[in-house]
Amino acid sequence: QRDFNQKIDYVFKVVLIGDSAVGKSQLLARFARNEFNIDSKATIGVEFQTRTQLIDHKTVKAQIWDTAGQERYRAVTSAYYRGAVGAMLVYDITKRPSFDHVAKWLEELRGHADKNIVIMLVGNKSDLGSLRAVPVEDAKEFALRESLFFMETSALEAINVESAFLTVLTEIYRIIS
Ligand code: GDP
Ligand code: MG
Repeated sequence: QRDFNQKIDYVFKVVLIGDSAVGKSQLLARFARNEFNIDSKATIGVEFQTRTQLIDHKTVKAQIWDTAGQERYRAVTSAYYRGAVGAMLVYDITKRPSFDHVAKWLEELRGHADKNIVIMLVGNKSDLGSLRAVPVEDAKEFALRESLFFMETSALEAINVESAFLTVLTEIYRIIS
């Protein structure tokens, strides 16, 4: 483990939310371990994964929480949100309903989390452009209106995943330092 014997300056809790099957677990696998598992069930039951990252000469440990499938039953608990300083609100660019539900997720997030939480709206599966059901402009407009960061990503092709997580971590750091 990279942070063995390493002094940690900050621990940031970041939560993944959004409909089932949008790619939350794969985004985490990509960011924390640079992996993509065709069989997603491999990560079920894991509460969070960490990645230690140098930001502005400080050692920041990102503790990134993934649901264990509770989102399917709308049973994400307040314990999940407690202490979170960042959130990745994920939808699937090929599934319009997953984008239509973003407002509901945002409401739940804002109801449970710290008011200064940094939120990134993530349109995942950008590799499936030919199946696109959510125009980039719709998402950009929503993000602007709600003061969210926004990026499209592909966990499969490792596009913008680093960038999305690092933007959130850097912004949290900027706020608290
Ligand atoms: P979760 O329920 O939100 O955690 O979603 P998963 O991470 O389990 O992914 C759901 C399905 O989408 C799985 O079959 C993944 O292989 C697939 N998937 C996840 N990310 C991507 C991506 O970026 N591109 C494509 N094409 N498929 C993806
Ligand atoms: Mg999952």
